[in-house]
Amino acid sequence: MASANTASEEKNIWKVVRVAGENSDVNSLFLEGKDEKFTARKAGQFVSIRIPAAEGWSEPHPFTISAAPEDNLLRLTIKKEGVFTSAIPSLTPGTPVKVIGPLGVFCQGIDDRPEIVMLAGGVGITPFLSVLRHFRNCGAKNRVILFWSNKTLADVFCREEIAAMTGELPLNVVHCLSREDDVQSYFDARIPGVKYEQGRLSAEIMKKHGVKENAACYVCGPPPMMDTALKELESLGVDPAQVEQEQFVWKK
Ligand SMILES: Cc1cc2nc3c(=O)[nH]c(=O)nc-3n(C[C@H](O)[C@H](O)[C@H](O)COP(=O)(O)OP(=O)(O)OC[C@H]3O[C@@H](n4cnc5c(N)ncnc54)[C@H](O)[C@@H]3O)c2cc1C
Repeated sequence: MASANTASEEKNIWKVVRVAGENSDVNSLFLEGKDEKFTARKAGQFVSIRIPAAEGWSEPHPFTISAAPEDNLLRLTIKKEGVFTSAIPSLTPGTPVKVIGPLGVFCQGIDDRPEIVMLAGGVGITPFLSVLRHFRNCGAKNRVILFWSNKTLADVFCREEIAAMTGELPLNVVHCLSREDDVQSYFDARIPGVKYEQGRLSAEIMKKHGVKENAACYVCGPPPMMDTALKELESLGVDPAQVEQEQFVWKK
């Protein structure tokens, strides 16, 4: 029994491959490991991780896997919020990381939804990055509109990758920028699937970009953004009970 426990504990230890900066606040942590449970993971799931601390391991913290389920490395895209998340950029290749998962059910069954609306706030884009990378890998035909709210364009990461996906998938992207004025100057006619709107996400913006009442809706972001998104969807006739939600709020 003791050796079985040791083997399963060993499987939980992954290693840092690299840390890549996405913007000034956000980093992607790439991990390699041998836990075969992860080969059956679904896009939108999360993990709980611990990093080495002065006395053993840190407290566990949850992060969504932003890589596609088909990708070999686990990619976590992490915004600096406090002590733990600010330590991520200093992790060096080879550092052990304790990983528990995959966890959660957000976006489960999304492959079977023909019309999809994704509403993301800030780093709440991570489950949708996983789904879109998965859709790209399998050449999915699902029609997707992604509304991504940020303060400024500088807060938007993976911008070019997402823009390229609009040419590969039936995907339209609307960047809603609350602290920018001349957002239309960002529009590039060579990438017609990426649009820009000034201000917070609203029912008016969603209507303008063709959100249908019967679409499958998914929301992920900070609590105030999620409340607004649900109210705006409701005013378009979407039942909030039918909207799938993931809150990045954790219980300590
Ligand atoms: C299912 C899930 C998936 C997540 N996925 C991602 C992801 O993909 N990328 C990402 O960057 N983050 C994600 N998060 C959030 C992430 O877990 C936290 O930002 C991180 O654990 C904060 O750790 P910290 O020590 O750096 O910050 P802390 O110092 O612990 O806190 C940072 C800030 O959060 C506030 N805070 C403290 N406790 C709570 C609480 N219980 N609820 C809400 N706010 C609190 C603090 O006041 C402070 O302002 C996810 C959370 C959940 C639950």
